[in-house]
Amino acid sequence: MVSDLFIQELKQYSDIERIVSGYVALKKKGRYLAGLCPFHSEKSPSFYVYPQTQSFYCFGCGAGGDVITFIRRIENLDYMEAVHFLAEKCGMTVPEDEKADALGMQRKRVLEINREAAHFFHDQLMSENGRQAYGYLMRRGRDRKTIRHFGLGYAPNEWHALTDHLKSKGFSEQDMVAANVAVMGKQGGAYDRFRNRVMFPIIDLRGNVVAFGGRALDDQGAKYLNSSDTPVFKKSKNLFALNFAKTSKLPGLILAEGYMDVIAIHQAGFDNAVATLGTALTEEQARLISQYTDKVILAYDSDGPGQAATKRAINIFDEVGVKVSVLSMTGAKDPDEFIQKYGRERFAMLLDGSRNAVEFELGKLRSKFDTQTADGKVGFLKDACKLFAGIRNPVEREVYVTQVANELEISPQAINAQIQSLDKREQYKERRRQKADTNIYIGQMAAAKNDLQRRANLRYAMAEEGLLYCLMKNPNVFKEVYANLKEQDFVTDINRELYSAFAKRLEAGQSIEMIELSSELSPEAMSRVSAIMATAPSQRCDEAALQDYMTILAEHRNVKTKEQVAQMDDNALDAYVKQLAAKKNRRS
Ligand SMILES: [Zn+2]
Repeated sequence: MVSDLFIQELKQYSDIERIVSGYVALKKKGRYLAGLCPFHSEKSPSFYVYPQTQSFYCFGCGAGGDVITFIRRIENLDYMEAVHFLAEKCGMTVPEDEKADALGMQRKRVLEINREAAHFFHDQLMSENGRQAYGYLMRRGRDRKTIRHFGLGYAPNEWHALTDHLKSKGFSEQDMVAANVAVMGKQGGAYDRFRNRVMFPIIDLRGNVVAFGGRALDDQGAKYLNSSDTPVFKKSKNLFALNFAKTSKLPGLILAEGYMDVIAIHQAGFDNAVATLGTALTEEQARLISQYTDKVILAYDSDGPGQAATKRAINIFDEVGVKVSVLSMTGAKDPDEFIQKYGRERFAMLLDGSRNAVEFELGKLRSKFDTQTADGKVGFLKDACKLFAGIRNPVEREVYVTQVANELEISPQAINAQIQSLDKREQYKERRRQKADTNIYIGQMAAAKNDLQRRANLRYAMAEEGLLYCLMKNPNVFKEVYANLKEQDFVTDINRELYSAFAKRLEAGQSIEMIELSSELSPEAMSRVSAIMATAPSQRCDEAALQDYMTILAEHRNVKTKEQVAQMDDNALDAYVKQLAAKKNRRS
């Protein structure tokens, strides 16, 4: 069996949307993608892909699961064959035959080169060669401890400093180029890619140096130069400093724009800051973040591009269900400068008071309209009402309405009236959405229509499914659930199989993401997991719901079949009858 670590890595590189698109023409439908099911014949699409949970589900035939299950089904492979198939597709090697495989060897050498290069750059920074770079970092307020913590370095202003060093360690030019630390010259012969730059190693979640960012110390070339994608690195799927931030005790994550910002924020004592790698936030990165937190504070630059990026990021996080608040800095262009100028306490206050997405949008409207003029007032109000109509929480909405009413010196009633007219349209849309969700649920029931056991025990089966959904959504409740409910308390075979697989992994301290479950479960069982996830909009999953599910299943524990009753001795029968009577009394 392959390790969870490898499966996690495989998951990172085999996005379900990309893999499935190779077989099915997918169309975006809100948060999902839909297409014609490859597993049964149909004319209108009932096959859905869910990027957020990296799963698929067909409401027509009930086929579902993670990316590995998809490959198993469509290529007709067993589990290990499917893992190999996917690994090959994204240039990875399954650990056990790593030695045999050339690509795996290259990955290993690229990682070794990166590690060696990071040491080399760091040593250079701490030597006479790196005096200017060291001075630069000191002037920017970084201290020695931080430099060591992040493993910062210096690439000398030479063409062959690193390449000569790596050659002396026995690495080939070809592998250096593959690692993207060297470039092949036109006349042949590799030379250093990073020259006269402060170097920021990028470290993955397993502690490997996978890439570098380099900041120029002179005006030669781009201000920031980053590694391109290599066999061990995908820019759109990694985050700077996530290796530190993932173990932070602080709530949420801070997303900043650049390496220097992140390092400044960490040095100020907030070790939950990360950054994208010289690119705008991607959906994959947002999804990666959503695995660690459901709350992000955006600390982008306060200039125009920074604000545009903020707006974009808010939308992307909204898609993956992460709550966003926005740091509003005045008197500094970025977090780095802010901390330099005002210190860590003021920055902590800033974090506490970070504005949520509504306030951010309001701020933008304020700068768009001149509310001193009548026209400006009307325009501002119109857009503000649209914004407010989208706020679900009535208390929160009231706060903003009052605030804007005071600001524009008009009555809150006037604003509320305008929101209500917008609301009616919103409510209509919402009803349509809910109807669509209900249809989906009914569809799911239809998909399980051949499951006779489920039909005969529908009440219990649905409680089981609700319970399994709660566990997937929030594995932390497992201990509580398992204390009350064992495998044998499950009524339907397939749900019991799922519960038992969940329990096995959770008891061992492992997670129960879909892709990990697929190593333990048949494609049929995976389909059921997918079905449960796909009906999520109609599942309750709070503490009260959990209690309800457990109560319903506990009830069943006491229900005996006719055959069981027939075999009871007198004492047992007596007890059973008393128990039934007590239950009846309780009800009436
Ligand atoms: Zn189908």
